[in-house]
Amino acid sequence: MPASPEYRCDVLVIGGGPGGSTVSAFLAQKGWNVVLLEKEHHPRFHIGESLLPLNLPLLERLGVLDQVDQIGLVKPGAEFNYEGYEPAVYYFANAMDKSYPSAYEVRRSEFDNLLLRNSAAKGTQVREGVKVTEVEFRRGSTSLVRAVDEQGQAQCWETRFVVDASGRDTFLANRFNIKSRNPVHSSSAVFGHFKGAVRRPGRDEGNISVYWFDHGWYWMIPLRDGAMSVGAVCWTYYMKTRKVSVDQFLLDTIALCPMMAERLKDAKLMAPALATGNFSYRATRMAGDGYIMVGDAYAFIDPVFSSGVFLAMNSGELGAEVVDEALRNGDVSARSLQRYERTVKHGLKTFSWFIYRITTPALRKMFMSPRPAFRLEQAILSLLAADIFGKTPIRGPLLVFKAIYYVTSIISWRESLAAWLKRKRARRTKLDFVWKSGN
Ligand SMILES: Cc1cc2nc3c(=O)[nH]c(=O)nc-3n(C[C@H](O)[C@H](O)[C@H](O)COP(=O)(O)OP(=O)(O)OC[C@H]3O[C@@H](n4cnc5c(N)ncnc54)[C@H](O)[C@@H]3O)c2cc1C
Repeated sequence: MPASPEYRCDVLVIGGGPGGSTVSAFLAQKGWNVVLLEKEHHPRFHIGESLLPLNLPLLERLGVLDQVDQIGLVKPGAEFNYEGYEPAVYYFANAMDKSYPSAYEVRRSEFDNLLLRNSAAKGTQVREGVKVTEVEFRRGSTSLVRAVDEQGQAQCWETRFVVDASGRDTFLANRFNIKSRNPVHSSSAVFGHFKGAVRRPGRDEGNISVYWFDHGWYWMIPLRDGAMSVGAVCWTYYMKTRKVSVDQFLLDTIALCPMMAERLKDAKLMAPALATGNFSYRATRMAGDGYIMVGDAYAFIDPVFSSGVFLAMNSGELGAEVVDEALRNGDVSARSLQRYERTVKHGLKTFSWFIYRITTPALRKMFMSPRPAFRLEQAILSLLAADIFGKTPIRGPLLVFKAIYYVTSIISWRESLAAWLKRKRARRTKLDFVWKSGN
C-alpha cells in the first residue's frame, strides 16, 4: 500500500501500555507528530497493580498525579512474610530520600486507560483496535509500518522513528530474532483478583504483602475498590505439576502457605484465574537505526519489587528525550541513541542482582531481619522505592548489603546449595504458555 500524507508521522509508537503512553505523551508535548497504535481497546485487563514511589514525580511531570490519586490506594510500604518470623514492614518514609513516602496500588485497566487518554490529550493520535504487523526499516530513510484494524483493513504508515512499546509481545525483538530467555532467571506466575480477602488495618491497608513458600513467592495487592490481586510466582517445575483447572491450581497453591490462606479463607475469585510462563527474557539490543524499545518490549525480569511499570515509564520518558534530540539533530542512528541503552540497562541491572537472589535463604533472612546499621535498611528502602537513577547515595550501603549476603550464604552453605540447585533445575525447565481458566 502506498504511503499517503494521511499516513505519515514523525514517531510511530507500537502499543499503548504505560511505556507507550509515556513516550508518546512527552514527544507529542514537544511538538512532534506522534501516532500510537494499540491492538486492544482500553480499558483492558493487565496484571501488575503495584507502583513505586519514584513513579509519582513521573506521573506529576505527565500531569496525571491527581487523577491517579482518584483511582489508587495509597501504598506506604511493603510487607515481607515468612513462616516463623514476624512480618517485616518496610515503610518508604524511612528511605534515604524522604521526598516520596508512598506510592499507589492501581487497577491497571483504569491506570493504563488514564495514561493513554492523557497522551491523546497531549496531541498523540491514538488508534485502538489496530495491530502492527510489520515494520520495514529503510537505510538512511523513513520506515514503513504496516498494521491492520479490526475490520481487516490494512494501514501503512511512513514514519521517521519507531518506538516499540508492545510489552511482552516484544514485536521488534521477535522480528529481529534477538529475544532470549533470561539465562539466569526463570519463573512463571498464576494469579487472579479476589473479593473478601482480609486487609491490613489502618494506614497499612495499602501495603503490598509478599510471602515466600517452597516453590517461589506470592503477592497480595489490595485495590481501592476492596478487591485483592493475588498471585504466585513459581519455579517452572512446580507449574508443570498442574493437573487441575487454573482456578483450582491457584487455590491449591495458596493453601500451601497457611499465613496467606488465612487471609483468603472467605475470599472468592472475581474472574477466572490466569497464568503466564517463563516471563523472564531480554533482547540483545534495545535501540538501532531509527528505533528504540521501551519497557517490556526490551526485557522483563520478575515482578517481586513491583518495578515493571516504573521501568517502562522511566524508559518512556528517557526515550522521549533521546528521540527528540535525535530528530532535532537529524541523526536517528543507533550511535545517537547510546545514552538511552546505557541508562535503561543500569536500572535493570540494579534490580536484577536482588531479584535473582530473592528466593535464596540468605536474602530471605536479611529481608526478614532488617538492619539499621550502615544505613542498610534505608538503602534497601531506596531500592524498593526505585530511587536508583538520581543522586541518592545508595551504592555504598548496597555494596555492604551484598557483602553481608555472601557471608550469610557461606555460613548457611547447605541451605544455599540446595536453593542454588533448585534454581538451576528451574532454569532448565521450559514452559511457554498463557493459561486461561479451564485449560
Ligand atoms: C505476573 C506479573 C505481575 C506483575 N506485577 C507487577 C507489579 O505489581 N507492579 C509493576 O510495576 N509491574 C508488574 N508487572 C510488570 C508490568 O505489568 C509490566 O512491566 C508493564 O505493564 C510494562 O509496561 P509496557 O508498557 O512495557 O507493556 P504493556 O503494559 O504490556 O503494554 C503493551 C501494549 O502493547 C500492545 N501491543 C502489543 N503488541 C502490539 C501490536 N503488534 N500492535 C499494537 N499494539 C500492540 C498491548 O496490547 C499492550 O496494551 C508484573 C508482570 C507480571 C508478568
